[in-house]
Amino acid sequence: EYRHGEYSEVIVSTPNGNIPIGKNHPVSIVAGPCSVENEEMIVETARRVKAAGAQFLRGGAYKPRTSPYAFQGHGESALGLLAAAKEATGLGIITEVMDAADLDKIVEVADVIQVGARNMQNFSLLKKVGAKDKPVLIKRGMSATIDEWLMAAEYILAAGNPNVILCERGIRTFDGKYTRNTLDLSVLPVLRALTHLPIMIDPSHGTGKSDYVPSMAMASLAAGADSLMIEVHPNPAKALSDGPQSLTPERFDRLTQELAVIGKTI
Ligand code: PEP
Ligand code: MN
Repeated sequence: EYRHGEYSEVIVSTPNGNIPIGKNHPVSIVAGPCSVENEEMIVETARRVKAAGAQFLRGGAYKPRTSPYAFQGHGESALGLLAAAKEATGLGIITEVMDAADLDKIVEVADVIQVGARNMQNFSLLKKVGAKDKPVLIKRGMSATIDEWLMAAEYILAAGNPNVILCERGIRTFDGKYTRNTLDLSVLPVLRALTHLPIMIDPSHGTGKSDYVPSMAMASLAAGADSLMIEVHPNPAKALSDGPQSLTPERFDRLTQELAVIGKTI
């Protein structure tokens, strides 16, 4: 039902040059905080993750929070702060769209549009990102089957946008006590057999605990991931969202060195 071509690449244009993801290119790394909190933290984090070897800065402006009373993201002003971090470092920017009404503002700064797990089957949003001339990262819904995920990606492809990256971020299983989600690394060989699309793994949301992120990042690389997404915060204890799963810049720097031992990173 879904199109299955040759293992392919998505080329992301960034101020630092074109970054290819997929097709046996070296593994690219997306790093940064869950939420953009203020200019100093996002620019500082961008500098630190760039120095450690990341090609992309992630950071949420619009946050899909379980509680309506939790920090919702700074919205449009955070997009301006991402632009400042991009200007300072040349890193490619990845940020999430939750509402199609924000899409035009988001594509002005984002080099990759993120569709989050909670919107994986928001079909009207998928059609709208599919109409944009910008790569799209589609995260796996927390209870989505592989077929549902691939068909969601297909909505974007069918709308005319061939530049789709799949991101595994952990699924719901019966034990949520020790890890936030169950990171399904078996998607790497499974998806490789089913689809041509590049595959990113997000061990931060996948485990929910910073101590478990490095080993799962290394396992992802060993199992053939095309790209990694890692949450990094300058002071995880004070983060406005997802502090417990965020690495410090120092720990992230060590991780990129550890990854280089396992496989080829950019
Ligand atoms: C995120 O990347 O911060 C995020 C909200 O991810 P997910 O959609 O995977 O929960
Ligand atoms: Mn997060």
